[in-house]
Amino acid sequence: MLRGLRRLNRYEKRILDIVKIGGKLVRLQQFGFSRKSEEGFRFPIHALEIGTEKAIRQRPVGIVAGVHGLETVGIRILLDFLEYILHKKSDGYMEELAKGKVGLVVIPIVNPGGVAKKFRSNPAGVDLMRNSGVEAESAPILFGGQKWTSKLPYFRGNSLEPESRALYRFIHQYFYPVKNAIMPVLDLHSGFGTIDHVWWPYAGTKTPCIDTPIYERMAEFLAKGKKHTRFKFGPQSETYTTHGDLWDLFYDHYIEKVLPASPKSNSRFLPLTLEVGTWSDIKDNPSKLFRKRGIFNPAKENKFETITTYRDFLRDFVLLGQSDLKDWT
Ligand SMILES: [Zn+2]
Repeated sequence: MLRGLRRLNRYEKRILDIVKIGGKLVRLQQFGFSRKSEEGFRFPIHALEIGTEKAIRQRPVGIVAGVHGLETVGIRILLDFLEYILHKKSDGYMEELAKGKVGLVVIPIVNPGGVAKKFRSNPAGVDLMRNSGVEAESAPILFGGQKWTSKLPYFRGNSLEPESRALYRFIHQYFYPVKNAIMPVLDLHSGFGTIDHVWWPYAGTKTPCIDTPIYERMAEFLAKGKKHTRFKFGPQSETYTTHGDLWDLFYDHYIEKVLPASPKSNSRFLPLTLEVGTWSDIKDNPSKLFRKRGIFNPAKENKFETITTYRDFLRDFVLLGQSDLKDWT
């Protein structure tokens, strides 16, 4: 059953509207298809290039959402942000994109089949964030990823699923080859926690990744410098460890294969995960559920004012792409 098909169609329509709003600044790309659902559907996985072609090649920043089909808050935060920064009449219009100072590439819905089915996993029952094949040092029995059956949640699958491969190709194409750039890539999730976490690698081990000093300075800059104090920054394994995290795989591939092949690249690919603590805001202030939408908000769908409170953070995140490696080392 495709209980979420109407919802998926609504998001896809918003993506097409964003292409329209952005004019020649936005290009729609396809990165393959989802796993086939039992109803026989394969859903296309779309990416958007936002900015000048030169900036996309030289100064790319990434944001993806919808890896887990139930976590539509992340998709809506991303679509709202894109509408906010691309509409010329918006007070959030980002001229850095038009001027070629930074490029933005996004996949708004990595797991469209999961959205259509109202599943966390993809249509084959695989949890994409447990799918990379990376073994954790130790992980919680079920939640940490399991290999028994797709009938239980957190199934790791047997090899990379089409959605995981699409995301890998996206990272390969836009980020691995770039020289002289800082390339933060944010993956938007939502959980049932009470606070917003921003995680850096690793998910699978408590051993710090080699870019920990860079991540720590970035966290300090965003939290203290830019006053994004509601976010708790740290390596993901500080919260919990899991098998099969895709960013562990992509990051290790970059550190072990891409960087050594080009030692003077002066670049860093820096994946981060934002886990929105979905209920925190509402618990603090239940009236937020019912309050009217923000002043500029072209989307009809945003019932939660919560969605729009991520705009400033995402803007500052994208602007990190203007910095250089030496700014953080
Ligand atoms: Zn998630």
